[in-house]
Amino acid sequence: LEALNGCLHAFLTPTPELALRQADEADRKYAAWRQDPSIELPPLLGLPMAIKDVLAQSGVRCTCGSKILENFIPPYTATSVERLLRAGVVTVGKTNTDEFAMGSSTENSAYGPTHNPWNLECVPGGSSGGSAAAVAARIVPAALGTDTGGSVRQPAAFCGVTGLKTTYGRVSRYGLVAYGSSLDTVGVLAQSAEDAALILPHIAGRDPRDATSMDLPVPSVRLDQASVQGLRVGVPKEYFIDGIQPEVEQGVRAAIEAYRQMGAQIVEISLPNTAYALPVYYLIAPAEASANLARYDGIRFGPREEGERMWEMFFNTRGKRFGAEVKRRIMLGTYALSAGYYDAYYGQAQKVRTLIKHDFESAFNEVDVIAAPVAPTTAFRIGQHSGSPLEMYLEDIFTLPANLAGVPGIAFPVGFDSQGLPVSMQLMGPHFREDALLRAAHAYQ
Ligand code: GLN
Repeated sequence: LEALNGCLHAFLTPTPELALRQADEADRKYAAWRQDPSIELPPLLGLPMAIKDVLAQSGVRCTCGSKILENFIPPYTATSVERLLRAGVVTVGKTNTDEFAMGSSTENSAYGPTHNPWNLECVPGGSSGGSAAAVAARIVPAALGTDTGGSVRQPAAFCGVTGLKTTYGRVSRYGLVAYGSSLDTVGVLAQSAEDAALILPHIAGRDPRDATSMDLPVPSVRLDQASVQGLRVGVPKEYFIDGIQPEVEQGVRAAIEAYRQMGAQIVEISLPNTAYALPVYYLIAPAEASANLARYDGIRFGPREEGERMWEMFFNTRGKRFGAEVKRRIMLGTYALSAGYYDAYYGQAQKVRTLIKHDFESAFNEVDVIAAPVAPTTAFRIGQHSGSPLEMYLEDIFTLPANLAGVPGIAFPVGFDSQGLPVSMQLMGPHFREDALLRAAHAYQ
């Protein structure tokens, strides 16, 4: 981490002392087990992991990539992180993210972008770009990220690692700083589906502190018979459209062909409302964000700017410390929720969201998994989209639908483009069928 973070800027807050303390504790447990093998060892004992800086870890600065939380040290730990620590994981630091996870490149971080380990002039994707770069550079074998509209899958794709977006409700959101509460999920970035499968059971499951977390058995995923013989793989025509980089389409189609040769059954399907996912998401996510970000008022969390009166202090703190993209989303969301516009925008978007969810439900009556690209392009240059928020939003077209429907997805590399950058594919599955995705990805890997 020390050697590579200077050029990658994957970590905002490395925590070497904490990591060494945790590692000493792991050594002690291991030594005790050597003495007495009847002691049960924590399942992930000593595994180093990185944590996206939107997940709280008690006593460690949590910035969310924002100046408004520049010095915020949470007094509590996110359930997902807490469970990893209980499983024996050693946490090495908090990773860079677009401010409040709003972005697709990590360029919206108030602390500067992360660089893609495959080409330092390229973005690592986002918003979990720091976690993806840390795994791709082999700083850590795995990391936690979050996915509200693609932020685990797209950086995994750009960095050539495996990224698992869990079903909404699979992993507790307690201690995850809220962005779009009906879309936010915690996920894993790892070197393979096999590694992600080892970690998933330890973060998943019901948590009384998150009412949307589900009380469902968490399958420990068995990969030893990961055959795709007879697996029905749906290929939605709406995901192979004009504007997609030809090498991405070729790479994904070649991977689908590989599945066919492994015995899977390839089925052409249609998800007819796919084209609406982008406008629907960019109403719902900012609407929820505008409400969630109201709490940053200079009083409750983080630093405070000067002001004669309360409102002045409030305006100064938010005005100076939120970045441009966050302000754009707050304005969009506030507008979409305002009296007179609510029905036309937010209400309408919610209805179309239901149609998108139904598209997936009917598709999963016919197929077991859906195969698609993760993003229309491979990693782009730093600065390439910085003039145009809309261009940046277009990078998300293939990842947003899974969040709107709440279904799980996995991204993993299937080749390289002519620049030597990873090309990846995405598999999406029915609610709570992460096991099917991990098995299918593992069969390919
Ligand atoms: N790029 C999307 C956005 O900016 C998704 C981000 C995310 O999943 N956190 O909202």
